Amino acid sequence: MTVLGAIFLPALPPERLRGVARAADEAGLEELWLWEDCFKESGIAAAAAALAWTERLRVGVGLLPVPLRNVALTAMELATMHRLFPDRFSVAVGHGVQGWMEQVGARVESPMTLLREYVSALRALLGGETVTVSGRYVRLDGVKLDWPPPSGAAVLAGAVGPGTLRLSGEVADGTVLVSSTTTDGVRRARALVDEGRAAGQVTGDHRVVLFAHAATGPDAQARLAAYQQRWGEEPGRFGVAGEFGHMQVVPDGRRCECGNRGCWEQYASGNVLVREAREMAAANSPVAHPILERAGGDVSAINGPLITAAAQDGDPAARELFEEIGQWLGVGIANLAAAFDPGTFVIGGGLSEAGDLLIGPARDSFSRSLTGRRFRPEARVVQARLGNTAGLVGAADLARPFARRFRRARARARDRRARHPGTL
Ligand SMILES: [Zn+2]
Repeated sequence: MTVLGAIFLPALPPERLRGVARAADEAGLEELWLWEDCFKESGIAAAAAALAWTERLRVGVGLLPVPLRNVALTAMELATMHRLFPDRFSVAVGHGVQGWMEQVGARVESPMTLLREYVSALRALLGGETVTVSGRYVRLDGVKLDWPPPSGAAVLAGAVGPGTLRLSGEVADGTVLVSSTTTDGVRRARALVDEGRAAGQVTGDHRVVLFAHAATGPDAQARLAAYQQRWGEEPGRFGVAGEFGHMQVVPDGRRCECGNRGCWEQYASGNVLVREAREMAAANSPVAHPILERAGGDVSAINGPLITAAAQDGDPAARELFEEIGQWLGVGIANLAAAFDPGTFVIGGGLSEAGDLLIGPARDSFSRSLTGRRFRPEARVVQARLGNTAGLVGAADLARPFARRFRRARARARDRRARHPGTL
């Protein structure tokens, strides 16, 4: 059965909740969901108030981050809510955003282990059991609720990644999906949840809650599109998407500052160019003598522009470096083509100033590494016209509309001051 609800976004101040909850109740909406995002409204307090202010509306909290609360406290809160407002309260728990958990000193090494232990203990406590567990994170010694919900209570889990989706199927009564999940994404998520259910031999209902964007009233479609675009620009659910430099291209390769080995940026970047040239020069390799000479005999004075100039002047060692980096560049963009299949790759940054010395080998290696090569059209690989400033110009361009608005507001304020001297 499909149930329709709305979300009271935690970006709104708590003072607005009463009006929204009452309007939802009167309009006949089935559910209102609250998000316990850090460091905004807290989930339980807001849910309790919303339920008390309304007659029939069901209220859900999606979700309570488990590292923030001892499981016994969560069980007490949930049991109290279920007894105060029978059949009107739902709750999901989840890993929480790791950055926020770090901020409050609650981040754990294995969020999956914590969630598994937490949900199992929480469900047992809400089921009225006496719980004694000694897990990695959850430790309870003969804990039993005095006032458990009379008929137990469902515990949902928020899940994004495949591992958590499977875990949710295995240990939780339902799953909450993030707001950017597509229709296909819901299908995939459901399949993963079912894998978990099969693994845990779980039967019975498993509710799936999906947060979706919606808009009403005049220009709803345009506002929704603008909102989705803004949402789409957010780099992933946790703000760390787009780190293509950390895709692994060499198993057990060079150590990267991200903690892994063999990341793309350890093979194709300006830093690599300088590092390799300096290593070559420091090893006193005769092939690197001309580069060292350009740097006045000082290894640490070797930099990107110097190597680029040497390559452009035909220096064989510098050209070799660009060729090698170009080859790795091609391997990485072939991976990106497998994921995104764009029509054009534009290579910017300092390295791109070398032009065809870099782009040529990149194109060749791209053609050799491309998945389904010879059976698909090949994307163009071109040099960014704005070279090293491409990123900067792009960022400035994004800021342009805001700057325009700011200038207009300042001009209006100036006019106002001119018309009404003596006011601020
Ligand atoms: Zn890395």
